[in-house]
Amino acid sequence: MDIQDRILKLRKTIELNAYKYYVEDNPILEDYEYDALFKELKELEEKNPHLITDDSPTQRVGGISEKFNQVAHKIRLYSLDNSNNSDELKSWYNRVLKDVGEAPNAQLGLFQNNLGDIELVSELKIDGLAVSLTYEKGKFVQGLTRGDGVIGEDITSNLKAIKAIPLKLFEEIDVEVRGEIYMPISSFEKLNQRQIENNQKTFANPRNAAAGSIRQLDPSITASRDLSIFIYGAIFDKSAKILSHSDAMDKCRELGFKTNGYKKCANIDEVIKYCSDMSEYRKTLNYATDGVVIKVNSYAKQNELGFTSRAPKWATAFKFPPEEVWSELLDVEFSIGRTGIVTPVAILRPVNLSGSIVSRASMYNFDEIHRLDISLGDEVLIKKAAEIIPKVCKARKTDKSRPLLLPEVCPSCGTKFIEIEGEVGIYCPNKQNCPAQIKGRLEYFVSKQAMDIDGFGDSIIEKLIEKKYIQKASDIYKLTYEQLLTIELIKDKSANNILNAIEASKKVTLSKFLNALGIRFVGKESSDVLAQNFSDIDKLKKATYDDLFSLEGIGDKMAASIVSFFSNQDNIEMIDEMIQLGVKITNKYTNADILRLKGQSFVITGTLESLSRDVAQAKLKELGAKTPSSVSKNTTYVVIGENPGSKAIKAKELGITILNEKELLKIINGGNDV
Ligand code: NAD
Repeated sequence: MDIQDRILKLRKTIELNAYKYYVEDNPILEDYEYDALFKELKELEEKNPHLITDDSPTQRVGGISEKFNQVAHKIRLYSLDNSNNSDELKSWYNRVLKDVGEAPNAQLGLFQNNLGDIELVSELKIDGLAVSLTYEKGKFVQGLTRGDGVIGEDITSNLKAIKAIPLKLFEEIDVEVRGEIYMPISSFEKLNQRQIENNQKTFANPRNAAAGSIRQLDPSITASRDLSIFIYGAIFDKSAKILSHSDAMDKCRELGFKTNGYKKCANIDEVIKYCSDMSEYRKTLNYATDGVVIKVNSYAKQNELGFTSRAPKWATAFKFPPEEVWSELLDVEFSIGRTGIVTPVAILRPVNLSGSIVSRASMYNFDEIHRLDISLGDEVLIKKAAEIIPKVCKARKTDKSRPLLLPEVCPSCGTKFIEIEGEVGIYCPNKQNCPAQIKGRLEYFVSKQAMDIDGFGDSIIEKLIEKKYIQKASDIYKLTYEQLLTIELIKDKSANNILNAIEASKKVTLSKFLNALGIRFVGKESSDVLAQNFSDIDKLKKATYDDLFSLEGIGDKMAASIVSFFSNQDNIEMIDEMIQLGVKITNKYTNADILRLKGQSFVITGTLESLSRDVAQAKLKELGAKTPSSVSKNTTYVVIGENPGSKAIKAKELGITILNEKELLKIINGGNDV
């Protein structure tokens, strides 16, 4: 296909999808798929400027529907150009400096001095629908959608139903403000639930729900949906003497508008830091954001910079990397965990997901493969699960799709897989001798969260198992300097480091030791519960199912698994051997006084100044308190640090006592000030 044909094809696809998105509020493509087509078209046109036409989507903004009265905007509304990473942000800033006369130092890639920098303002990019609101003598008179930027749809009566839009300002002033209509995430979820109950179409995301709710011919439908607005721009009369974007935002707040805060940044590095901070912080918010908008603060400099045909040159939108992305399923590996469970792992064509390159993702178990109807060669949608391990959550067939054969025997030891009644998943039953399970158990034993023995990488453990130096945890305490030196990767210094780390791990608390044993279903939290209730390991060895099941936090499966673990002679011998080899298990919970916060629960939200959240939680747990991640009516205290999330609001709603960091430290310190 020649370039002109490709350009025409791209324009057609983009136009069709823009119509679905802007006019029908019913997109077919994912945003990043649309963005990729748009970017390709823009790059082709930049390389071939003679092929640019006025009606190309790169020269235009949005779209308008015939359903509403169409009204010309007094001052045009624009879109924003995107920057996808810090290099693109730096290039944009370089262009800004060049255009307003401050040349960057090309050799260093830095700017000559601070005087050369231009003040920027960064603010969250709300993922909603742009509107412009006109006020005359402080009274709301007209509200329009952005439309195609030149003409908007008149949705004044619908906008009047949104409580966050003031009908009267605190001053009798003429002003046009621009803002983003959005639907809170919690309201979006409730709306979709209602739509399902009433057999109606659900919305793909909060943005479409907001757009679909505001562009209704019947204002009572809009009024029934929970919508809000953040104002992000304003055009004041010259007499108001507003000289910068930040002044305009401050003035908007004074007038009674809802704004979302901004951060002044002295240079692009501060912007990059803000974007990186926000990419995490935004996950705590109850509204959808898709990036950060960066604007040159001074109006005089904005005027100097001007606009392209569709976007201001004085602003750019940093887009957060997608949280989900399509890739191709190249192969599937069947990984055997330390408990023998089989996890199918997708091997993918590498893709960028939330800023990192992903080439493997979990598919949980065989049932999930059947449920999603996954074949090799399919296109698969990858999402970040619990923000850490990516998972496959959708599949669609391609002409490369071919059957995926599920194995019946363990790839590590050849034993036939079994199913365990009442449990999801397939297992390799060869607990004692399956190399993959042995490796998994040992890797877990030495890991940070367990005995924390430094120096054992995966490949070192593999080699030590191969040489039969270690098969079970107690073997680690028998390793010699000479044995370690036979491993290719280990030299004199690292052998000594490993031996020192092994020695240091011998002093261990009961809860850490129990966690390291890798008893099925028993993790860090439940190990803590056990240590709080059994003074030493000998008492735990003798505990019955009923003793265990009666403890808060120990369920049926866990109690049965603990009893089964300690009734296995091999496990008892392994523990005894470790004790003989010098492992000394102490219990920090044996002093009853120490559990003075037992029965209380603390939820921490926001950043604490003097200690990390993990450390604060660990201290509270040591004192017997619980530290759940969400607020409920059973929460005793909610501790609020800087930039708290929605948990602070929930705590207020539920009337739960709120503590600041100082008050928390006082409780930890037994009532003494710090
Ligand atoms: P945009 O959404 O990328 O950026 C411009 C808009 O950002 C402004 O109009 C404004 O409404 C908004 N905004 C939010 N917070 C702001 C702030 N603090 N300051 C200034 N503006 C702020 O551009 P666009 O032209 O509206 O639309 C492009 C977007 O729409 C892309 O993300 C694209 O993926 C998506 N889209 C998707 C499809 C699809 O088929 N999925 C089709 C068309 C467009």
